[in-house]
Amino acid sequence: MKTLLQENYTRSNGEGQADFQNNFEEYKHIFQETRRLGDIHQVDKVFKCVIKILQQVVEFSGAAFIEKEKFADHYHLKNEYKLNSKLDKHLRWLERSGYLKWVSESDTVSLIPPDDEIASNHPLLIIPLLTGKKIIGALVVFLKINSKDITSNNSDLLTLIGSQAGVAFENARLYEEMATKSHVLSSMKSFMENSIESVGDGIIAIDLDKKISLFNSAAVEILGPQHDTAIGLRYNELFDQEFVDFLDQLFDLTLTKGENRDEFSYRNPISKKRFLMEIYATILKNDEGEKIGAIAVCRDLTEQQELTQLRQLDQLKDEFISTVSHELRTPLTSIKSFTGILKDLENCDAKSQREFLDIIDKESDRLIQLIEELLDISKINRGEFNSEIGFINIKAVFKKSLFVLQAVAGAKRINFEADFNGNEIVLSDEKRLIQVFVNLIGNAIKFSPDGGIIKIWTEKIKSNGMKDKCNYLKISIKDEGIGIPKESRTIVFEKFKQLRDDPSTKPSGSGLGLWLCKKIIEEHEGTIWVESEPNKGSTFIFTLPNPD
Ligand code: ADP
Repeated sequence: MKTLLQENYTRSNGEGQADFQNNFEEYKHIFQETRRLGDIHQVDKVFKCVIKILQQVVEFSGAAFIEKEKFADHYHLKNEYKLNSKLDKHLRWLERSGYLKWVSESDTVSLIPPDDEIASNHPLLIIPLLTGKKIIGALVVFLKINSKDITSNNSDLLTLIGSQAGVAFENARLYEEMATKSHVLSSMKSFMENSIESVGDGIIAIDLDKKISLFNSAAVEILGPQHDTAIGLRYNELFDQEFVDFLDQLFDLTLTKGENRDEFSYRNPISKKRFLMEIYATILKNDEGEKIGAIAVCRDLTEQQELTQLRQLDQLKDEFISTVSHELRTPLTSIKSFTGILKDLENCDAKSQREFLDIIDKESDRLIQLIEELLDISKINRGEFNSEIGFINIKAVFKKSLFVLQAVAGAKRINFEADFNGNEIVLSDEKRLIQVFVNLIGNAIKFSPDGGIIKIWTEKIKSNGMKDKCNYLKISIKDEGIGIPKESRTIVFEKFKQLRDDPSTKPSGSGLGLWLCKKIIEEHEGTIWVESEPNKGSTFIFTLPNPD
């Protein structure tokens, strides 16, 4: 095969005008071929094309692109063409020998004589690859020809290939880097978008013109408007005035303070559900540090509120158990200790025995009452109130209650002044109403002085059609007892609340009576409250629906 090399060799031996013309055509051809390298964006493809171009200039058995590392003086094999183990050995020798570095830096196409050890007959051709003064690496070509077969024309062409290939390799390398970087950037972008989409909190971004540029799925869920509707609209075109005013204030403060947090009772226009929402907003700035808008994270606080309520309930339950245990232990301890004394009959005269048995009897009653009240509480909590509502005559209920209380009332010589005409009717469950009367009158007796007067009377409240939807009967029970301080007038209706903790003044009872009364009255759609003046007396008042 007649290679270009041989033709060039002829020209270099000075054989005239025709050869010069040939060489010129060839140079032009190779120049055009190498220029095309600039359009290739992958290093591997540049290498393949360079090999094809080289094959038009010299004969070789293998070749390699040895790349210089960007920030170090090291070279490594980047691409290879027909590199068998023998050539590979050659290449490593070349690296070790320092020729590679030397040739690259010298910027001239060089022929290196083969190493004796490797016993190659042909020289190695090293073409430095540069862009300007920057070394990219070198092309190592394992020639199939001898040094004398390389003409000066060949040398020119190889220099041309080297300079064009250097630029092409560098461009392709930069292009690949950019592609990787932009791939990384677009992966990061989609990662961010996916993350924003997958969070449970609503995320909204707005610019300084209030225009919405980000509205994730959770924002759709929480706030109502669809993503496509929201994007590009100003938030004042999307939400009602109340929320817009809130957002205006929130974002104004965010832009001055950098961040801001607030809560808003929001009504979702789609689900019509109103809930407490927390919004945390933070400022958005561009690379120059200029304010460009704000990003807000919205959270539905319903779950959090429910969780707090559950925790509070749990805590109440714990407190309840501990108070109940304490209340049960007190009468049980006295029953136990007086039974112990009674067992040892020698130490007790008949009078003491009677006294102790009375205490045991009273404490047992207290225990039974407490357990009944506890059972009532658990029934109420389970929603099992067993109300048998009917038309109930208040005078009759009062009489029945008094029958239960006659012994205690008699012991304190209490006088009752009841003002009933006998026609007072309420809609109620009789048993429950007696429970309320016994509790309230029982307390009035308990906290009254000996010989005190307890007054009971009723008044009609006509429906005004607004708050009071029906007629009510107002029932008042007034005593002349110790009274209740102003600050305790709601507390007494709470569970286990007794006002006097000093054991000497602590009233007997569980502190559950008024709580139960309140529950019963509320179950009947009435209300209960107390009016009182310390040391002058208390009036417990409650209302019940009156069918008149
Ligand atoms: P108790 O079983 O202890 O009477 P209640 O729930 O009926 O429990 O009453 C709670 C507390 O309210 C009482 O311990 C007492 O301190 C106060 N109280 C209730 N009724 C009266 C009253 N008529 N006069 C003064 N204090 C009262």
